[in-house]
Amino acid sequence: MDIVGSIDRWGRLTPDRIAHVSGARKLTYGELLDASDFLAASLLVTLPENASPVLVLGHKEPEMLIAFLGVLKAGRAYVPVDTSLPRTRIAQIANRSECATILTPEDVSKRIAEAPRERPRLPPRDPGAPHYVIFTSGSTGEPKGVVITSANLSVFLNWMLAEQRFANGDEVFLNQAPFSFDLSVMDLYLSLVTGGTLFSVTKEDVSNLKRLYEVLAVSSVTTWVSTPSFAQLCLADSQFREELLPGMRRFLFCGETLPPFVAGALLDRFPSASVWNTYGPTEATVAMTSIRLDKETLARHSSLPVGFPMPGVQVEIMDESGSPMPPGTPGEILIRGANVSSGYLGQPELSERVFSGGNGAASYRTGDLGYLDSTGLLFVTGRMDDQIKLSGYRIELGDIEANLRELPGVRDAIVLPVLKNGRPDALAAFVILLGRGEASDLELLLAMRGELSKSLPAYMVPKRFIFLETFPMTANGKANRDKLGELL
Ligand code: AMP
Repeated sequence: MDIVGSIDRWGRLTPDRIAHVSGARKLTYGELLDASDFLAASLLVTLPENASPVLVLGHKEPEMLIAFLGVLKAGRAYVPVDTSLPRTRIAQIANRSECATILTPEDVSKRIAEAPRERPRLPPRDPGAPHYVIFTSGSTGEPKGVVITSANLSVFLNWMLAEQRFANGDEVFLNQAPFSFDLSVMDLYLSLVTGGTLFSVTKEDVSNLKRLYEVLAVSSVTTWVSTPSFAQLCLADSQFREELLPGMRRFLFCGETLPPFVAGALLDRFPSASVWNTYGPTEATVAMTSIRLDKETLARHSSLPVGFPMPGVQVEIMDESGSPMPPGTPGEILIRGANVSSGYLGQPELSERVFSGGNGAASYRTGDLGYLDSTGLLFVTGRMDDQIKLSGYRIELGDIEANLRELPGVRDAIVLPVLKNGRPDALAAFVILLGRGEASDLELLLAMRGELSKSLPAYMVPKRFIFLETFPMTANGKANRDKLGELL
């Protein structure tokens, strides 16, 4: 698929149609076409002659969309970064991606204003070239960049377009996730290639529930894309039902376990809409399994299935030695197909470890545990490592631990999720100090949270801190995480 070409087509066919709504701001397809062309013209004359990507730093501003398309038109990949990240983390991402430049919404406006008013001659796009690089939490304490090509993205989009049969030019897609998370790729591109309207909820909207309901009430959303956690938050208000959003056609979920009570409540409150569970890691381009849930499926399963793999993509369940497991037997989920990333940016060894075993086709060892039933339906049951999902955010506990160990006065640290109804609800840090002086636990907690906030996003800063002299040990001399968990 010519992704950028498909979006531009709407700019020529229906230039006045609204492509994006964010707070009080609206962007039409015509404006998106012109502005991304002019931005590309500006980038083409100023970017160095190499293939380095462009870091796009912002939140939900219309300039973000202009920047993504402008960068692509200039023959580069973009690295979306949300402004909520601390400066140190942004610097790490800029470093690791060896980005050619950083574009903020202000830079985008300035470049467009100064660009010559003629259409640039755009370089042809190679489908195998990187389209975006999304950084996720890495266990070593530094984020890792997943490279997704235009070809990878096309596989995902073609599948979803065929399955969901969106009404061209007549859908409003909810954009809940920041553009730095790959869940947003689902709403952003499905909306733009179908001539729909992308309706962003901003962090200001989400910070106040009353405001969120007011915003949703005027959104006219027809296709809901969010994490289950976000829908659960909305369901807390009894007004969140079909009367509030009468145009709702479907709910698309991805990114974390969908609790049956969330799916059930949506089916009850939005009887005209369908509810879908989809599954996939950033490394396999957003999602690659799906299932439409109904009351019968909910009644049959206490833990919901994540769906059947998209056509042409294989899911294999492996044991520890990499041998395939028969249906019904749990093991690690391996994904093989043209949707799989070529690897992590600048990390050949890590890439070799997890993107191997494909017998020719690209493959990814997810680290997720699960099984296929006899009909080929996939169930995800847990993780093999210390990666968790907290409100849909992907977090390597080792990432937080590495950052904690960097703090002055910290000898060792272990971070565990605090569970509520079996799901991570908060984070707790167990810390051994080099010496604590006169400081109280509260003073230490505030100091550590303050320090960590300089290097980690807010959702990765533990709420609870427990200071210990030593960690309990397992028989083979490792810190005993289970025993520590009992302290919570
Ligand atoms: P991310 O790369 O942020 O999209 O996170 C990918 C991880 O989220 C997967 O490897 C799973 O552990 C988890 N995940 C994604 N979708 C689902 C789902 N529908 N059910 C359960 N876990 C999911």
